[in-house]
Amino acid sequence: MLTDYHLHLRPDGHDADVAEYHTPANVERYRAAADERGIAELGVSEHVYRFVQALEVWRHPFWETYAHDDLDEYCAFVREQTDLRLGIEADFVPGAEDRIANLLQARDFDYVVGSVHFMRDGAVDMDDYSVWDSSRARSAGEVWTRYFQAIGDAARSGLFDIAAHPDLVKYWGDARRTPDGDLRRYYEPAVEGIAEAGIAVELSTAGLRKPAGELYPARAFLEMCVDAGVPVALSSDAHRPEDVGADYERALEALDAVGVRELCVFEGRERRLEPIGATGASELPAGSSDAAAR
Ligand SMILES: [Zn+2]
Ligand SMILES: [Zn+2]
Repeated sequence: MLTDYHLHLRPDGHDADVAEYHTPANVERYRAAADERGIAELGVSEHVYRFVQALEVWRHPFWETYAHDDLDEYCAFVREQTDLRLGIEADFVPGAEDRIANLLQARDFDYVVGSVHFMRDGAVDMDDYSVWDSSRARSAGEVWTRYFQAIGDAARSGLFDIAAHPDLVKYWGDARRTPDGDLRRYYEPAVEGIAEAGIAVELSTAGLRKPAGELYPARAFLEMCVDAGVPVALSSDAHRPEDVGADYERALEALDAVGVRELCVFEGRERRLEPIGATGASELPAGSSDAAAR
């Protein structure tokens, strides 16, 4: 089986309205793209901060700009009008664990994708509120150290099923600073937290579409996860139908190279493993189909 669990049904602009994007016709476009690429299992994981209920968790000005929609209407739409698994991409907000838990436990999600986009008030992957601003200038090493500690803390919080894009801090690639040398020293606390918590790590092709130009996470991070017995959830983080399963041949090569043969499948926040393999795939190159079949 192939999965794509980290999907958004609309672009990130705050004017992208549910009336236009949360429709069966739009979901059909995602499903059609998945079918072409042999991806049987699809789930949607809208950003928690698009929903007014998120303001009970955190009142960052970015969240206040985006929180327009009703979370329960989203859940009802996915359950009643689509055949998608119901997920959500929830940010880890240190100190707000109880409020996040209340929001998540009140709904019947199939899985929760846990993300760290912000460190305190600074975003690692946006120009707005950027943690990289000179006014907040810190060494790259300090930002990376704090980032991967936050990933470990997020995992240990027990709030999430999947650690999303776990080295998002590299988002800007060479356009921002990257620490020198072997990066595994930064990854360690994150991988430890993910392994201890027993959650899955996401392999996301989104980094290939960003300045970083790499899969999330880097090969060394993925290897450390595999060595620690962490299972993998495969996703594209698509925000439009054409990106569903984008660059999966690259992801399947990476998984094959580190010896991963199974992917996580989620239902009702229970996880099982399924052998990797495209369903009636027409678009995957021969090499990765072979890899998937092994
Ligand atoms: Zn994200
Ligand atoms: Zn996302």
